[in-house]
Amino acid sequence: METKIYKIGSSVADNAFMKEAAAVIRDGGLVAFPTETVYGLGADAFNPDAARKIYAAKGRPSDNPLIVHIAEFKALESIAEVLPDYAGKLAEVFWPGPLTMIVKKNKNVPYETTGGLDTVAVRMPDHPVALQLIRESGRLIAAPSANTSGRPSPTLAEHVAEDLGGRIPVILDGGEVGIGIESTIIDLTEDVPMILRPGYITGQMLEEVIGIVKTDPGIISGDSFTKPKAPGMKYRHYAPRADLIIVDGERKAVVDKINEWTDDMQAKGKRVGIIGTDETAAYYRGNMILSMGTRDDEDVIARHLYRILREFDEERVDIIYSESFATPRIGQAIMNRLLKAAGHRIYVV
Ligand code: AMP
Ligand code: MG
Repeated sequence: METKIYKIGSSVADNAFMKEAAAVIRDGGLVAFPTETVYGLGADAFNPDAARKIYAAKGRPSDNPLIVHIAEFKALESIAEVLPDYAGKLAEVFWPGPLTMIVKKNKNVPYETTGGLDTVAVRMPDHPVALQLIRESGRLIAAPSANTSGRPSPTLAEHVAEDLGGRIPVILDGGEVGIGIESTIIDLTEDVPMILRPGYITGQMLEEVIGIVKTDPGIISGDSFTKPKAPGMKYRHYAPRADLIIVDGERKAVVDKINEWTDDMQAKGKRVGIIGTDETAAYYRGNMILSMGTRDDEDVIARHLYRILREFDEERVDIIYSESFATPRIGQAIMNRLLKAAGHRIYVV
């Protein structure tokens, strides 16, 4: 299959490519599109065959449900069995935006979209291309991240083409995404809302709007016994080709430890990759040193994470040492992804 890649400029609504992409969705095909979090791989959420195509293109396990993307609040009423108490309040503050709500599904939503669950994940994305694709197609769009299962989520259209080129008909290129890590997922089907996946919207931000919020113990513990509630969180999302080890501690001690290990490895003829920051990159001695950005801007760090992990897969390094990024606000979300990539190997100096 030939994959068409269309660059979408600023006048999204009258773009002829948007009309073509919307027709592909209506015909039961797949379209990759930018959102503010990562690129999504979309299909008509009410069409079981279309949903199945997503799993096939990504190589995604069939029990890992998709997120339904909507463009207006009343669409939530068309897929939810009951509207949970907090949904309206949360939507008012955080939609459009990087918050996914889990609600009980009604019979309109096929099990192909929900991975066999009686609940459904719903989000209103904050990106003009995503919103226009939903509106123009007249459908709700089921979409997981537009990567091959097990690879880092795509933050550029080029990443989508790398993974899915030749397997899907259309990629809408909206440039680099704004946030760079997947949405926060909150489960509204229990008495106390529970965060199933940390993201840009933090527990504290949610508590300010709806009071007490719990966090799924399965996403905090690194052991394999506490099962996370979001099916997708149980997968070892991404493992770089090289071993990845996180080093945490005071800045200078981290640099010294990483350099000491680097010298050891290089003496054995190994190639070393290092994930540092603008503040530290110049002090490292690795074969390939990449900066996540400045520690003064945690948004930039989140945006660069997946791109950097992909870059290390292209270059042949034997081992990667990374600084720790438990930054104040979205550090929990960043570290959740980085720890998974490292298989929870973290060394405290
Ligand atoms: P992705 O868009 O690739 O990040 O994948 C969607 C994420 O949402 C996966 O981690 C899923 O497990 C999660 N998810 C989707 N629907 C549900 C649901 N009904 N209950 C819990 N988690 C869900
Ligand atoms: Mg994903």
